Amino acid sequence: MHHLGDSSEKLREEVFAYARTRLEYNPPPLDGPQSPEFLLAAAGKTITEEGIGGTAALGVFADVLAPATISTDHPNYLSFIPSAPTEASKLFDLIVSASAIYGGSWMEGAGAVHAENEVLSWLASEVGFGPQAGGVFVQGGTLGNLSALVAARHWAKRKLTKAGKPMPAKWKLICSQEAHSSLKSAASVMDVEIIKAPVDEFGKLTGAAVAEALAGNSGDVFAIVATAGTTNFGIVDRISEIAQVAKQHDIWLHIDGAYGLAGIISPESRNLYAGIEEADSFIVDPHKWLFAPFDACALVYKNPEIAREAHTQHGDYLDVLTETGDWNPSDYAYNLTRRPRGLPLWFSLATHGIAAYREGVKYNIDLARQIADEIKTRPDLKLVREPELSVVVFEKEGWTITEYNAWSEKLLSRQQAFVVPSSHKGKPNARFAIVNTKTELSELVSILDSMNE
Ligand SMILES: *Cc1c(COP(=O)(O)O)cnc(C)c1O
Repeated sequence: MHHLGDSSEKLREEVFAYARTRLEYNPPPLDGPQSPEFLLAAAGKTITEEGIGGTAALGVFADVLAPATISTDHPNYLSFIPSAPTEASKLFDLIVSASAIYGGSWMEGAGAVHAENEVLSWLASEVGFGPQAGGVFVQGGTLGNLSALVAARHWAKRKLTKAGKPMPAKWKLICSQEAHSSLKSAASVMDVEIIKAPVDEFGKLTGAAVAEALAGNSGDVFAIVATAGTTNFGIVDRISEIAQVAKQHDIWLHIDGAYGLAGIISPESRNLYAGIEEADSFIVDPHKWLFAPFDACALVYKNPEIAREAHTQHGDYLDVLTETGDWNPSDYAYNLTRRPRGLPLWFSLATHGIAAYREGVKYNIDLARQIADEIKTRPDLKLVREPELSVVVFEKEGWTITEYNAWSEKLLSRQQAFVVPSSHKGKPNARFAIVNTKTELSELVSILDSMNE
């Protein structure tokens, strides 16, 4: 006798009702963290031999655990890079969860994989890649960058092997000083050296800086990474210059656009990314600025065959899948079992159309410009850099980290906003990262006002 049967009708309805409540929050509660001691005491013991029952567990979640989690789609959640999924994408996430769909192979998940691939093809076309481009939705940008870099090194190794040349003592990759921490992490996992080239006065990696970093060791460099929207400032590197240098040296160019590549879909911003069609791979996280739920990173290769060679896992029980010539998403990244996590974005795109996405991204970029202009009118505030996308960084005259922290805690404790301090060149600052179409200028202005209370 086993007890893992279906839920009761009652529990099913309770869960649907709670999901509906959450979906209908407008705005969702900000809430905030609690200490482990508080949560242990308030939640009690929930994992027991007999189980506490679904109704009780749902109660613990609703009353204790959920209020100790911040809703990243609150319109005034402006820290880090938030995630503000459309309702359509959340709704479809429910359907994905209600189904047991395997997204790793064509044999098992053809329909889901087809839909995910249509989204990837659209992203590839926005970037200017040809119809042969393809890839996979992985868990996040960290894994996407690692997977692209593994493919890049595979390609570099293959070239040397074909030419009968020896491998370098240590492979190297080049990125900018402003590049995301995940690249350092990838370099460490891959046991390669990372060369951080300096940025220019605008925070951008230039072709000249890459050429200089290459000087003397171009044979060891298997990849150049340009950032399309730095996490700190939303700055896009000089991709077309960098692409030229990469081409001259026949080195793989990867674009880390986890946050900022979404900006390419706004026609007004398209020129920031000039030359990106020359890249070999890119990532962009729908859970950052394409209004989709966690966790999803779109990883796309210009020539996916190289990635397939680099990543396909072989094994007796898998060969029935991998030796078919079918398109198996698992083969294009460092992953095997996968949820078809591109489907919520697919559904929302299909529902709203691409034009609505272009407008959403443009709305956030315009909002960033407007609040930057407001900051410039205030004598006690200093804009650290002109925003290029939707990140705005500014300093308050005379404030140390202590004042920033106190202000940040005040905003969260009165449930007005979630804005944590950041820093640049050792100086603390305030930073708004705007990726939510419900964020409003008047609210941002009130947050500025709150610095003077
Ligand atoms: C967020 C980010 C990453 C990492 O993405 P995750 O989805 O958090 O793993 C990588 N690069 C850039 C530029 C980012 O902004």
